[in-house]
Amino acid sequence: MNRKSLPKKLEKEIYQQFQSQCPFCGESDVNTLQVHHIVPHAQVQAHHVKNLLLTCANCHQKIENDVIAQREVYEAKFDAERAFEAATEQMQKDAGSVVSFSGTNTGVVANTVNMTTKSSSVKQGPIPGTIGAELELRNYAKHLIDRYREFKEADVGKGAMRHAVLYSSIKRKFGAKWDHIPAESFENLAAFLRERIDGTRLGKTQKARGQKNYSSFEEHRTKPL
Ligand SMILES: [Zn+2]
Repeated sequence: MNRKSLPKKLEKEIYQQFQSQCPFCGESDVNTLQVHHIVPHAQVQAHHVKNLLLTCANCHQKIENDVIAQREVYEAKFDAERAFEAATEQMQKDAGSVVSFSGTNTGVVANTVNMTTKSSSVKQGPIPGTIGAELELRNYAKHLIDRYREFKEADVGKGAMRHAVLYSSIKRKFGAKWDHIPAESFENLAAFLRERIDGTRLGKTQKARGQKNYSSFEEHRTKPL
């Protein structure tokens, strides 16, 4: 059976639905983002928007290896659909009635998606002044997130790990995805993540032994590559 390649239009739709971000780790580097078939393409022999998910190469591998459970994949898809619907509705309100999505990129990857409304043009991608836009802040936040996932996984076991939970609790507490949080709130986010790490069973054990659960921002910043 010849596999038809994914139509560009559909690919773009998926990038928009997922806001050009991996739903599991927040990665937004377009060079690593890829479209994943939730039910394998070999089985469905078709491309359908409902069956497609955007992930980074790293998390894609984790899905293939069942490190990210299928249930989480469905949850991530469900969340992205809801979030996108809500954003669309909001834009319709803002714009009166017309919503137009105009991608500025004609290539495969919608790395810049302009959502045009009457009042404003919202550019996707790192927002100036946010954690995502400042490399050092972004890298340290990722370090803490990775560490939390590592520790939590050690607690609950791979199969029971629900990666999406941390992201939704960050969203609830800070009102935004971690990399969309203003840089001024970086310390609060770091404190929140450190507390979560220290609260895991492994975190408590290590702390009791006087072992470090994570690097400080300064250590991480000056760490040789
Ligand atoms: Zn990822």
